[in-house]
Amino acid sequence: MIVTIRLNYMTSNKNINNKNKNNHSKNNIPAHSVDTRELALEMLIEINERGAFSHIVLRSVLDKYQYLSKQDRAFMTRLVDGTIEYMLQLDYIIDSFSKTKVRKMKPFIRNLLRMSVYQIKYMDAVPDSAVCNEAVKLAKRHKFAQLSGFVNGVLRNIARNICKYRVEKLIETTDELVKIIEESIPKSKQKDGHPAKRTFQAIRIEVNNEIKPLYYTVLNSIECLKENGRLCIITFHSLEDRAVKNAYIEAQGHCTCPKELPYCVCNYKSYGKIINKKPIEATEQEKEENSRSKSAKLRIFERHEKK
Ligand SMILES: [Zn+2]
Repeated sequence: MIVTIRLNYMTSNKNINNKNKNNHSKNNIPAHSVDTRELALEMLIEINERGAFSHIVLRSVLDKYQYLSKQDRAFMTRLVDGTIEYMLQLDYIIDSFSKTKVRKMKPFIRNLLRMSVYQIKYMDAVPDSAVCNEAVKLAKRHKFAQLSGFVNGVLRNIARNICKYRVEKLIETTDELVKIIEESIPKSKQKDGHPAKRTFQAIRIEVNNEIKPLYYTVLNSIECLKENGRLCIITFHSLEDRAVKNAYIEAQGHCTCPKELPYCVCNYKSYGKIINKKPIEATEQEKEENSRSKSAKLRIFERHEKK
């Protein structure tokens, strides 16, 4: 596949300065310096909007602009690679701060914002104000002067909020965590007991590594059953319920024969059958009388030696 890159506008650019003419007079070097951000942006448009391969685009640009300093080349490479790598996150951030969604923006503006937010978020050495100023300049230079205010507004807003996020401290006490959870869950969803209840339950399950052992305990318990014996397990958390359900499915086993076969030949291992596909829950009346039964789920497995 051949990729051509349209960089012709670069040479007619008014902002290109000619001061470095003397330094670059050797080795067929063009008599002007280029804006590395502009080059990076052009590459991003080529890759994101026209489907070019990033490594091919990068290599051909680096080949063409061999006279660029090592730092400039590294900056451009990181900017292009990083923006592509983190594009989903960058788009999410932009969408949170812009009324116009990323996919509805003009390709130039969309990629300009992505590239700029990448610098704000991931390149600490570049001051945020420089990122905003350069982005505005680029927009104006490319006849998007009417959108330069929009670009500036979105970027400054993102820069401010990312700074705020950076200075926020680590969560050190359970009280701090409770406060954050209370603020994060809408009041309308806080009816079901304390809002932090589920979060703490989830943390406990994770810290104690409760799920994997539960899964194997269920499998071992089934093996211990007598013929026609039943194992009935009540869980109080969806993660526990899922572990029990998966263990039951594993114990029941399933046929792996092709559908065309008239009968089973795979001889799969089965320890019995699942009695209720859907878990049994408490009745409305019981939930009313006993709030702890609200999250209870009962699953039953019956032991059968496979014939
Ligand atoms: Zn089979």
